[in-house]
Amino acid sequence: MLVDRIAVTVAGIIRHESFERGSAAPGRTTMAVMSEALPPDDRDWTWVLERPCPECGFVAAEAELSSIGELLRRNAAAWQGVLAAEAEVVRHRRRPDRWSDLEYAAHVRDVNRLYLERLNLMLTEDDPLYPNWDQDATAVEEAYNDQDPSVVSAELGAAAGALADAFDGVDSAQACRKGRRSDGAQFTVDSFARYLIHDPVHHLWDVTGQRAETS
Ligand SMILES: [Zn+2]
Repeated sequence: MLVDRIAVTVAGIIRHESFERGSAAPGRTTMAVMSEALPPDDRDWTWVLERPCPECGFVAAEAELSSIGELLRRNAAAWQGVLAAEAEVVRHRRRPDRWSDLEYAAHVRDVNRLYLERLNLMLTEDDPLYPNWDQDATAVEEAYNDQDPSVVSAELGAAAGALADAFDGVDSAQACRKGRRSDGAQFTVDSFARYLIHDPVHHLWDVTGQRAETS
């Protein structure tokens, strides 16, 4: 996610060398490294609650809690289209410092799952502290780019649907319930929802270049 990177050291990131580049040692098997780690995104994205995102165009401040479920479902539907392309296309990294479409999709699936867990924590505990999550380590450990695009597509749809249903069930009293991130950032269910929805929207812009709708 764009957000959740707190205490990951660059030293923990390993850059692999593809044997397809440069002078491979004689006798070695040529192989493409499918889930090479990228430099970690450790920016704090909570500013998206205050002003429009200059990249994807999303205006989180204008997103209503009651619309989050529908926005999640629409976003997931768009990812189904992205993942319907040929596997070699969705696994391709257009730039060395950006994930492939498949990696972004797997990340969005996991963000939807993670935020369902966090939402349930906020609804059942008083001001919980969310367990930390290292998005970049997960991408490598789970070999996002080796996953089956059709499976990721189905899983993303299911995860987004479950999270959308959960947000649809939040009432006005629950909207004020609180939670905290490990870096001290504080959320209510309302701000958490508007913060969350920017992530899959922004990543859809990452892969399609299409500016976001807020509602
Ligand atoms: Zn954005």
